[in-house]
Amino acid sequence: MTTDAAAPAFDPCDPVAVAQALIRCPSVTPEDSGALGVLEAALKPLGFACHRLRFEQEGTAPVENLYARLGTEGPNFCFAGHTDVVPPGERKGWSIDPFSGEIHNGRLYGRGAVDMKGAIAAFVAASARRLRDHGAPKGSISLLITGDEEGVAINGTKKVLGWLKEKGEKLDACVVGEPTNPKALGDMIKIGRRGSMTAFLTVFGAQGHVAYPHLADNPLPRLARMLAAITAEPLDGGTAHFQPSNLELTTIDVGNPAHNVIPAQGKATLNIRFNDSHTPGTLLAWLRERFDAVGGAYELEHFVSGDSFLTPPGPLTELVAEAAQAVTGRRPEYSTTGGTSDARFIKDFCPVVEFGLVGQTMHKVDENTTLDDLTRLTDIYGAVLGGVFDRIG
Ligand SMILES: [Zn+2]
Repeated sequence: MTTDAAAPAFDPCDPVAVAQALIRCPSVTPEDSGALGVLEAALKPLGFACHRLRFEQEGTAPVENLYARLGTEGPNFCFAGHTDVVPPGERKGWSIDPFSGEIHNGRLYGRGAVDMKGAIAAFVAASARRLRDHGAPKGSISLLITGDEEGVAINGTKKVLGWLKEKGEKLDACVVGEPTNPKALGDMIKIGRRGSMTAFLTVFGAQGHVAYPHLADNPLPRLARMLAAITAEPLDGGTAHFQPSNLELTTIDVGNPAHNVIPAQGKATLNIRFNDSHTPGTLLAWLRERFDAVGGAYELEHFVSGDSFLTPPGPLTELVAEAAQAVTGRRPEYSTTGGTSDARFIKDFCPVVEFGLVGQTMHKVDENTTLDDLTRLTDIYGAVLGGVFDRIG
């Protein structure tokens, strides 16, 4: 796949053709396999200035990203998403080749069809149609597309946003095309996400013979009491836009092969999905308070994959909800459920909401979207662009 402005082999106004071209690139994280080239071939002839951004960091694979912008004026409305996909798993589980982009009975099949090459195709088609029907907008349309979302997400959106900041590029509002609808298009807009923190607890004692416990110090009863204390009560009761925070123990490890030895230490790992009534700091204090009450020597380490955030209901959420309602006839619910997404990075730059296809088959065999959903999602994104540019125009 070349990266020059050669005419694409498909009509950029046709979301199905763009989605097929994207699915045919086997861009399993962190491989690009030509996926961003497909987008450049579609966007350059429309007038988008395309910046390919390749980031790498020691110990991680290099990742390709794309920032494409049409126009130089504000407001700069941004569509964000990822062209990388999760591995298809065993080929024999699939009814068709996961990278063939085949259409059967009104459905487009393939890895990434809903998560989220279909939505990216709808970004492109909605932008192309807007240009075709209304000319260049008074403002800018941009696409921020990463190849590093499904993996470690170190060389992706976060670094592209850093690059934008360095260049003085400003985003005014953003829609991320993750598959947010549980059952049908128009079900759900994500207006925030819970945060995620993993904590690693090690409780220390002194090794010894089980028959001589007075000469040892068994850390396991303390570990058990600590884990009982943090699972005995809920972290909170939920907030206006969030479900209650949740703590899950994910592993308890001692690794003691001997039946007659008191171990020197015991470990446990837990993950907390937390709402906007907590920060990693308040969660660590909450954990330490309970561990300290049990007493003894312990160590607590942690890793935060994302803070919780909320784009409060306002102009952007309303615009997307109205657009979805105009096309589907249904008013989407505002939600903050589910896992993390790259919106966790974008929220520091501009208001961001997520709305995409129906997620039922994401990460599964025979991932697919109906062609009808793809067309209607394109119409919804088109209505969002209309809302952004007609109101200021
Ligand atoms: Zn995704």
